[in-house]
Amino acid sequence: MRPATLVFLLAAAFFSAARGSEPAAVRFGSIDYVSVDDAADRLGLKVVRLAPQPAVILKDGARPVARLADHSREADLAGLRVFLGDPVVARGGALYVSRTDYLARILPRLRPDLCGLPPRQPRVIAIDPGHGGTDHGASNKALGSMEKTYTLDVSLRLKRLLEGAGYTVVLTRDADYDLSKPIRAEMANRANADLFVSVHFNSLNPNTKTTGVEVLCFPPRSQRSAESWSPGHSDDSEGKVSPVNAFDAWNAILAGALHRRVLDALHDGDRGEKLEHLGVLRELGCPGVLVEPAFISSDSEAAKLATPEFREAIAAALFAGIGDYAQVIRALRPPAIAAPDAGPPPRAVPTRPASP
Ligand SMILES: [Zn+2]
Repeated sequence: MRPATLVFLLAAAFFSAARGSEPAAVRFGSIDYVSVDDAADRLGLKVVRLAPQPAVILKDGARPVARLADHSREADLAGLRVFLGDPVVARGGALYVSRTDYLARILPRLRPDLCGLPPRQPRVIAIDPGHGGTDHGASNKALGSMEKTYTLDVSLRLKRLLEGAGYTVVLTRDADYDLSKPIRAEMANRANADLFVSVHFNSLNPNTKTTGVEVLCFPPRSQRSAESWSPGHSDDSEGKVSPVNAFDAWNAILAGALHRRVLDALHDGDRGEKLEHLGVLRELGCPGVLVEPAFISSDSEAAKLATPEFREAIAAALFAGIGDYAQVIRALRPPAIAAPDAGPPPRAVPTRPASP
């Protein structure tokens, strides 16, 4: 047995043993839930109950790490606003969170070491400047600015930063032309990318006031998009697994890393992490998210976006977030022992958090 194979097998055994600590599931309606008390107990967290709405804060020692509330999909995970895929429910005075949210949203953020075998250490990063060509994306008519211009500018800045740190960068487009969403994911896959970040800017036209960062992940199988919960929309959950679902937990880790860095850098409000069935993410063979660091429809944020300093600050925040993600993977994934005949390190098939 090659040394690299031995390390791989030991790591796989360690991760499967760690997953034995999963709380038991109970079914409410058509969804499997786990008890928040049980989960906290297994994770060594303290539960602080809030009233009058049944809600809890989970604490690691004195440090709050999560807040969950009955009937709500909106959670606070280590100070970041995160929209779960299913509402939290209360039964008999105790709170329950869906098993999919526990495995694919909460656990990755609190205990990435319990999320199965990590994906590859990122070396090749695919950056996707949103829109292009005849697709201008959103715009700010008052300032005459278009989303496609800024997505490319920030992506080029991010490329320079990543290349300076030794990463290989693949841009899905490097100039102003049309490019379909599935082709963007296919380009990342063909380049054997280890990570995919699609850069966009948000819009709530004709609202010119709303600002802030939003990060979008592809929903785990059986979960709905955030938009589908709005009045007039219906359940859009999918029964089939999409390729990017192999990385549900790692998408959540990447989303949190980018979210925190952009929020810390721009201080322009937290619109949260949401789930959307995005064509640009669906077929990915690596972890990937779509980030909207600011609102082009906001007159104040669009004015900032017009300055190179603000765009550089966004690129620097995304660069730092990618670095944070890489550090999580590095800490989890034992490096393969180099041997003359070992060849490339084994390409892991990451353990996907089981869906109901
Ligand atoms: Zn866009």
